[in-house]
Amino acid sequence: MLTGRKYRLDFTPEQGEFAERIGGACRSVWNTALEQRRIYRRRGGWIGYHDQARQVAEAKDDFPWLAEVPGHCLQQALIDLDQACARHGTWKVRWKSKVANPPSFRFPEGGKITVERLNRRWARVKLPKLGWVRFRLTRPLGGKAKNATVSRDGEHWYISFLVEDAVTPPERHADPGSAVGIDRGVVKVVTRSDGRFHHRVFARDREVEHAKKLQRDFVRTAKGSARRKEAAGRVAAMARKVRRRREDFAAKTAHTLATGFEMVVFEALTTKNMTAGVEPRPDPEQPGAFLPNGAAAKTGLNRSILDKGWYRIELATRSRARYTGTHVITVNPAYTSQTCNVCTVVDRKSRESQAVFRCTSCGHIEHADVNAAKNVLTAGRAEFAQPRPGVRAGARKPRNRVGRKANRQATAAQSTATAGSGLAGIPRL
Ligand SMILES: [Zn+2]
Repeated sequence: MLTGRKYRLDFTPEQGEFAERIGGACRSVWNTALEQRRIYRRRGGWIGYHDQARQVAEAKDDFPWLAEVPGHCLQQALIDLDQACARHGTWKVRWKSKVANPPSFRFPEGGKITVERLNRRWARVKLPKLGWVRFRLTRPLGGKAKNATVSRDGEHWYISFLVEDAVTPPERHADPGSAVGIDRGVVKVVTRSDGRFHHRVFARDREVEHAKKLQRDFVRTAKGSARRKEAAGRVAAMARKVRRRREDFAAKTAHTLATGFEMVVFEALTTKNMTAGVEPRPDPEQPGAFLPNGAAAKTGLNRSILDKGWYRIELATRSRARYTGTHVITVNPAYTSQTCNVCTVVDRKSRESQAVFRCTSCGHIEHADVNAAKNVLTAGRAEFAQPRPGVRAGARKPRNRVGRKANRQATAAQSTATAGSGLAGIPRL
């Protein structure tokens, strides 16, 4: 199966600087190519990957900073852009900014990547133009690398390999028939239908206060100043620390769930429950209206510090499930918190408080989240017993990288019209 392996690189200062330049070139290529696509679209035309790749190759003669970096990384940036545009539309794909997008670039050809083990702790990888780079071998690579992505997170550089580990998925889960429903929440991050919880505090109250202070400090600094850069670094470092805890928690929870159960049922996340925890305040002056609660202002903090990582848990479980033969399914979350799991009566009033469910019909009392998780499991069993064809989440039809036939023809028409002008339509960098 294909799997990911991430290690911290030990660049020499020169390699670090060069990597920074490769990342910069890929970002420029992304932004320029996106701008070009938009210009074409405004004129009613279309330009695709092949033309853009050719133009980048040609531009290397004029721009030494393009010529010095590995060409495959630039091509990969164009492929990524092509896929992003196909998936989200040319107008929704975003620019890459130097501040918001740390450098990241991919070497798409596994055949050009050589990995050697040096000793028990260290290995080295040979990357095109970067040469040999050492990295701490925190776990075995476990197979042949199919590609490698180099990225910087804060002050450190990392390499992620896509590895074919030659493991075949099991025919059936080790514990056939076992199933669990999951309720994701704020008070407990994960509540299971069997009454167990998985919880961790990702940021203690003191840390949240500290993050708020760092955020305030950042806002007070002047744009473009050295202080601002420093303040931004501190905000990012704090966010990184919290994110690591979240990632660790998600991985461990996913492992427990996937090894323990043949079926794991989540409630499908909606925009509404994704932003839970930020409740609007009723306006006392105007009944029915709500006051702004600073939610927009807090979005950054919510995302980086207060986020519970609900989606990450699901992703991690799906990833782990491939190795254990677990089925991960999602069900409609409607009424799971208001339905009695014993008598199935739906009543909003049954949810007595945040923590307690007391059925208004049969009197059943249970922890509110456990009751919800049980309903999620019930819904999951029903769904799994009768899978509806075409409705279940699954493979998206793969898109042709070059676009549809009509698009190809449009491109051909455009490129003959603009042939000979080099980087036609691309604003000069
Ligand atoms: Zn009941």
